[in-house]
Amino acid sequence: MIDKALAQKVLAEALRTGADLAEIYVEDVESLRLGMDDSRVETAMRGEDRGAGIRVFFGNLVTYAFTDSLDEQSLIDSARAAAAAGTGSSSQTRIDLTERKSPLEYPVLKPFDTLSIEDKVQLLSQMDEHARAYNPQIVQVSASYDQLRRHMWLFNSDGLQVEDERFYTEIRGGVVARRNGTLQQVRDGFGGRVGLELLDQNDAIAEIESMCETAVKMLDARPCPAGEMTVVMCNGWGGVLFHEACGHQMEADFITKGSSAYAGKIGERVANPIITAIDDGTIPGRRGSLKFDDDGTPAQRTVLIEKGILKEYMWDLVEARRVGRDGSTGNGRRESYRHMPMPRMTNTFIDQGEHDPQEIIESVKRGVYIANMAGGQADIAKGDFVFNATVAYLIEDGKLTAPVRGATIFGNGPQVLNEIDMVGNDLALDPGKGMCGKGQAARVSVGQPTVRIPRVTVGGTDDASA
Ligand SMILES: [Zn+2]
Repeated sequence: MIDKALAQKVLAEALRTGADLAEIYVEDVESLRLGMDDSRVETAMRGEDRGAGIRVFFGNLVTYAFTDSLDEQSLIDSARAAAAAGTGSSSQTRIDLTERKSPLEYPVLKPFDTLSIEDKVQLLSQMDEHARAYNPQIVQVSASYDQLRRHMWLFNSDGLQVEDERFYTEIRGGVVARRNGTLQQVRDGFGGRVGLELLDQNDAIAEIESMCETAVKMLDARPCPAGEMTVVMCNGWGGVLFHEACGHQMEADFITKGSSAYAGKIGERVANPIITAIDDGTIPGRRGSLKFDDDGTPAQRTVLIEKGILKEYMWDLVEARRVGRDGSTGNGRRESYRHMPMPRMTNTFIDQGEHDPQEIIESVKRGVYIANMAGGQADIAKGDFVFNATVAYLIEDGKLTAPVRGATIFGNGPQVLNEIDMVGNDLALDPGKGMCGKGQAARVSVGQPTVRIPRVTVGGTDDASA
């Protein structure tokens, strides 16, 4: 997108006032979003965006300037703006850039243009028709398709040159079932760092029919009982609880600020020894997978907790430099060239345990099984959370019985992590719908096997419809 000679010139300009590191991040993005609501195409949006961000480091002081123009003058002007905070001078005028390649491959088997926009709309129409035909109680249907190509290049004055061209395909659906005055909404989706092969590997129509089945079944749900009880959380998407209520606290910015419950606890026991938790940015096809992060660091697999012992945090370049750590863990991510990177999760999960999931349910005399959750709320720095279950069942004498509505669980992430006492052997990552918000949006995956939390506060309400 910009050539090496121009990158060298801009970096030299950015260093001129005495910076110890300068970086250019260039991005070229193309997106298509199609959305259907109640059988009509409501959204058809093509986007293109390109630009560059120049970041300059004076020790722990970091300055940033960005431009949506990639011509030489704009880049030089941005480099000067970012360098303006410096008061020294640099004699480094020659920067030798060496391109670094990633051994990781995220192949796109079917490029976006193998289907026309009409074909893509047609798929949404079919989802809509099948959902409506499924049951007359289905009264609202929405479906959407997203494709995104995000190509990044990074050059820095240490001589690093990398690029990562990221392709994402995503399908989402939502249905509302109604009977008399009761409404029940179910939303779901799937996607990944893949091309249109996603649509061959997943059956979008079967997926939305399954949402309809759940929504209709949940119309019969009774109000969830409230109080302290045992909760069993589903595998896959259930890992969103760990992500929100524990994972964020292992991000290095919360650690260096000292605001996290995990600050200063490396080597200490922070969870039941049956818990191992991992952040892995190298899993083929996953939403959080990267070749290089947005600091230019190779993506990696980081064991955060091993058998209950806290092993590592998730670092970006800024926080690693702040504490004198030798490099980051490849967790520096940014929403776009308009943003500075910050420590973010990639694909984060609780690892495989040894219990049969059936055995976990059978172990519960009376409790709640959470089969799906909407996004909850978590104080990501402290880990206090409230999560709303969208699909939940009572567990009575070791068996799943009536569906219940309005199940909400409350607690504190680090505390719950200590208390989880059974971990299933059915590890799964979520189907690929996770979007993390931490000031900036980032695609992530979450995951876990079925887990049992022996005691947690469940708030029940009979007014959580839709
Ligand atoms: Zn998050």
